[in-house]
Amino acid sequence: MNGSWRSAPMPQHVAQLPRNTAGRPVPGNVSWYEADDDGSILVTSNDELGGHITCSCTPGRGTPAFGEQCPVRQREFMVQRLCGLCTKGIATMEQLAFVGETDAGYYLEPPLHQDCAAYALQVCPRLHAAGDRIEVALAQTYTLMEDRIVGMTAGGELRRARFAFGDPVARHLAVLEFYLAVPVAPTRQTGPEWVANRTQDAA
Ligand SMILES: [Zn+2]
Ligand SMILES: [Zn+2]
Repeated sequence: MNGSWRSAPMPQHVAQLPRNTAGRPVPGNVSWYEADDDGSILVTSNDELGGHITCSCTPGRGTPAFGEQCPVRQREFMVQRLCGLCTKGIATMEQLAFVGETDAGYYLEPPLHQDCAAYALQVCPRLHAAGDRIEVALAQTYTLMEDRIVGMTAGGELRRARFAFGDPVARHLAVLEFYLAVPVAPTRQTGPEWVANRTQDAA
Protein backbone atom coordinates (compact mmCIF):
# COMPACT_ATOMS: atom_id res chain seq x y z
CA MET A 1 0.00 0.00 0.00
CA ASN A 2 1.22 3.54 -0.54
CA GLY A 3 2.55 5.45 2.42
CA SER A 4 -0.20 8.05 2.56
CA TRP A 5 -2.88 6.17 4.43
CA ARG A 6 -1.46 6.64 7.91
CA SER A 7 -1.49 10.36 7.45
CA ALA A 8 -5.07 10.46 6.16
CA PRO A 9 -6.43 13.78 7.42
CA MET A 10 -9.26 13.34 9.91
CA PRO A 11 -12.21 15.53 8.88
CA GLN A 12 -13.09 18.07 11.57
CA HIS A 13 -16.53 16.62 12.28
CA VAL A 14 -15.08 13.12 12.56
CA ALA A 15 -12.68 14.38 15.24
CA GLN A 16 -15.73 15.39 17.30
CA LEU A 17 -17.31 11.92 17.28
CA PRO A 18 -17.34 9.80 20.44
CA ARG A 19 -14.38 7.40 20.59
CA ASN A 20 -14.04 3.74 21.48
CA THR A 21 -11.66 2.64 24.22
CA ALA A 22 -8.82 2.48 21.66
CA GLY A 23 -9.41 6.14 20.85
CA ARG A 24 -10.86 5.49 17.42
CA PRO A 25 -13.76 7.77 16.31
CA VAL A 26 -17.00 5.78 16.11
CA PRO A 27 -19.04 6.38 12.93
CA GLY A 28 -22.41 7.99 13.60
CA ASN A 29 -24.41 5.06 12.20
CA VAL A 30 -22.87 2.48 14.57
CA SER A 31 -25.00 0.88 17.33
CA TRP A 32 -24.03 1.31 20.98
CA TYR A 33 -24.80 -1.11 23.80
CA GLU A 34 -25.06 -0.21 27.45
CA ALA A 35 -24.33 -2.78 30.16
CA ASP A 36 -28.02 -3.42 30.91
CA ASP A 37 -28.96 -3.88 27.23
CA ASP A 38 -29.89 -7.50 26.50
CA GLY A 39 -29.61 -6.98 22.73
CA SER A 40 -33.23 -7.82 22.00
CA ILE A 41 -34.83 -6.31 18.89
CA LEU A 42 -37.52 -3.74 19.66
CA VAL A 43 -40.46 -3.60 17.28
CA THR A 44 -43.02 -0.83 17.33
CA SER A 45 -45.56 0.59 14.90
CA ASN A 46 -46.92 3.93 13.73
CA ASP A 47 -49.01 5.26 10.83
CA GLU A 48 -46.06 6.58 8.89
CA LEU A 49 -43.81 3.50 8.87
CA GLY A 50 -46.08 0.65 9.90
CA GLY A 51 -44.19 -1.97 11.88
CA HIS A 52 -40.59 -0.90 12.37
CA ILE A 53 -37.56 -1.65 14.46
CA THR A 54 -36.69 0.99 16.97
CA CYS A 55 -33.67 1.56 19.18
CA SER A 56 -32.82 3.89 22.02
CA CYS A 57 -29.05 3.67 21.98
CA THR A 58 -27.06 6.85 22.46
CA PRO A 59 -23.70 7.46 20.77
CA GLY A 60 -21.01 7.70 23.42
CA ARG A 61 -22.93 5.67 26.01
CA GLY A 62 -21.72 2.09 26.50
CA THR A 63 -19.77 0.13 23.91
CA PRO A 64 -19.97 0.61 20.13
CA ALA A 65 -20.64 -2.41 17.92
CA PHE A 66 -18.52 -1.66 14.85
CA GLY A 67 -20.08 -3.09 11.72
CA GLU A 68 -23.60 -2.97 13.16
CA GLN A 69 -25.86 -0.06 12.24
CA CYS A 70 -28.41 1.54 14.56
CA PRO A 71 -31.66 1.25 12.56
CA VAL A 72 -33.00 4.54 13.91
CA ARG A 73 -29.96 6.61 12.98
CA GLN A 74 -29.48 4.70 9.73
CA ARG A 75 -33.01 5.69 8.62
CA GLU A 76 -32.62 9.27 9.82
CA PHE A 77 -29.33 9.70 7.94
CA MET A 78 -30.76 8.15 4.75
CA VAL A 79 -33.89 10.30 4.73
CA GLN A 80 -32.10 13.54 5.66
CA ARG A 81 -28.99 13.09 3.48
CA LEU A 82 -26.71 13.02 6.52
CA CYS A 83 -23.21 11.56 6.42
CA GLY A 84 -23.03 8.02 7.87
CA LEU A 85 -19.62 8.77 9.37
CA CYS A 86 -19.63 12.35 10.72
CA THR A 87 -23.48 12.70 10.97
CA LYS A 88 -23.52 16.16 9.32
CA GLY A 89 -25.64 17.11 6.31
CA ILE A 90 -24.30 16.74 2.78
CA ALA A 91 -25.10 19.82 0.66
CA THR A 92 -27.30 19.12 -2.35
CA MET A 93 -24.68 20.72 -4.63
CA GLU A 94 -22.05 18.30 -3.34
CA GLN A 95 -21.48 14.86 -4.86
CA LEU A 96 -21.98 12.18 -2.27
CA ALA A 97 -19.95 9.02 -1.94
CA PHE A 98 -21.26 5.52 -1.37
CA VAL A 99 -18.77 2.87 -0.34
CA GLY A 100 -19.57 -0.77 -1.02
CA GLU A 101 -19.00 -3.82 -3.16
CA THR A 102 -18.24 -3.66 -6.87
CA ASP A 103 -21.25 -2.60 -8.98
CA ALA A 104 -23.57 -2.49 -5.99
CA GLY A 105 -27.07 -1.48 -7.12
CA TYR A 106 -27.94 -0.14 -3.69
CA TYR A 107 -26.26 0.63 -0.39
CA LEU A 108 -27.18 -0.26 3.17
CA GLU A 109 -24.75 2.31 4.54
CA PRO A 110 -25.76 5.98 4.32
CA PRO A 111 -23.96 8.35 1.96
CA LEU A 112 -20.71 10.00 3.00
CA HIS A 113 -19.01 13.32 2.42
CA GLN A 114 -16.15 12.69 0.01
CA ASP A 115 -13.61 13.71 2.68
CA CYS A 116 -15.25 11.30 5.12
CA ALA A 117 -15.25 8.48 2.55
CA ALA A 118 -11.56 9.05 1.81
CA TYR A 119 -10.77 9.00 5.51
CA ALA A 120 -12.81 5.82 6.11
CA LEU A 121 -11.19 4.01 3.17
CA GLN A 122 -7.77 4.75 4.58
CA VAL A 123 -8.27 4.05 8.28
CA CYS A 124 -11.12 1.50 8.52
CA PRO A 125 -9.38 -1.91 8.81
CA ARG A 126 -12.22 -3.74 7.02
CA LEU A 127 -12.32 -1.36 4.05
CA HIS A 128 -8.58 -1.07 3.90
CA ALA A 129 -8.13 -4.85 3.84
CA ALA A 130 -10.75 -5.27 1.10
CA GLY A 131 -8.66 -3.18 -1.31
CA ASP A 132 -9.92 -3.35 -4.91
CA ARG A 133 -13.05 -5.24 -3.90
CA ILE A 134 -14.37 -1.99 -2.45
CA GLU A 135 -15.79 0.54 -4.83
CA VAL A 136 -16.71 4.20 -4.41
CA ALA A 137 -19.84 5.37 -6.24
CA LEU A 138 -20.18 9.13 -6.60
CA ALA A 139 -23.61 10.58 -7.29
CA GLN A 140 -25.42 13.87 -6.97
CA THR A 141 -28.45 12.22 -5.46
CA TYR A 142 -30.12 8.91 -4.62
CA THR A 143 -33.51 7.35 -4.19
CA LEU A 144 -34.60 5.12 -1.31
CA MET A 145 -36.05 1.64 -0.97
CA GLU A 146 -37.18 -0.11 2.18
CA ASP A 147 -35.50 -3.17 3.64
CA ARG A 148 -38.13 -4.98 5.67
CA ILE A 149 -38.20 -8.20 7.65
CA VAL A 150 -40.97 -10.42 6.30
CA GLY A 151 -40.55 -13.43 8.56
CA MET A 152 -38.25 -16.11 9.77
CA THR A 153 -36.84 -19.16 8.00
CA ALA A 154 -37.11 -22.65 9.50
CA GLY A 155 -33.49 -22.22 10.55
CA GLY A 156 -34.29 -19.09 12.54
CA GLU A 157 -32.77 -16.63 10.07
CA LEU A 158 -34.59 -13.38 9.35
CA ARG A 159 -36.16 -13.26 5.91
CA ARG A 160 -35.93 -9.85 4.25
CA ALA A 161 -37.51 -8.21 1.24
CA ARG A 162 -37.07 -4.90 -0.52
CA PHE A 163 -40.01 -2.59 -1.12
CA ALA A 164 -40.55 0.77 -2.78
CA PHE A 165 -40.12 3.71 -0.42
CA GLY A 166 -43.45 4.46 1.26
CA ASP A 167 -45.18 1.36 -0.18
CA PRO A 168 -48.53 1.38 1.68
CA VAL A 169 -48.91 -2.40 1.49
CA ALA A 170 -45.43 -3.14 2.83
CA ARG A 171 -46.38 -1.36 6.05
CA HIS A 172 -48.87 -4.09 6.80
CA LEU A 173 -46.74 -7.00 5.62
CA ALA A 174 -43.35 -6.51 7.07
CA VAL A 175 -41.23 -4.76 9.67
CA LEU A 176 -39.04 -1.91 8.46
CA GLU A 177 -35.43 -2.07 9.58
CA PHE A 178 -33.33 -0.04 7.16
CA TYR A 179 -33.57 2.15 4.11
CA LEU A 180 -31.49 1.29 1.06
CA ALA A 181 -29.95 4.05 -1.04
CA VAL A 182 -29.95 3.72 -4.83
CA PRO A 183 -27.51 6.25 -6.32
CA VAL A 184 -28.74 8.02 -9.44
CA ALA A 185 -26.31 7.74 -12.41
CA PRO A 186 -23.24 7.02 -10.27
CA THR A 187 -19.64 7.08 -11.47
CA ARG A 188 -17.59 4.26 -9.96
CA GLN A 189 -13.94 3.69 -9.10
CA THR A 190 -12.23 1.16 -6.87
CA GLY A 191 -11.50 2.50 -3.40
CA PRO A 192 -7.68 2.57 -3.71
CA GLU A 193 -7.87 4.14 -7.20
CA TRP A 194 -10.24 6.87 -6.04
CA VAL A 195 -8.15 7.69 -2.97
CA ALA A 196 -4.96 7.82 -5.08
CA ASN A 197 -6.58 10.15 -7.64
CA ARG A 198 -7.84 12.48 -4.91
CA THR A 199 -4.40 12.59 -3.29
CA GLN A 200 -2.86 13.47 -6.66
CA ASP A 201 -5.43 16.18 -7.33
CA ALA A 202 -4.73 17.76 -3.94
CA ALA A 203 -0.95 17.72 -4.48
ZN1 LIG B 1 -29.57 2.52 18.21
ZN1 LIG C 1 -19.10 13.35 6.83
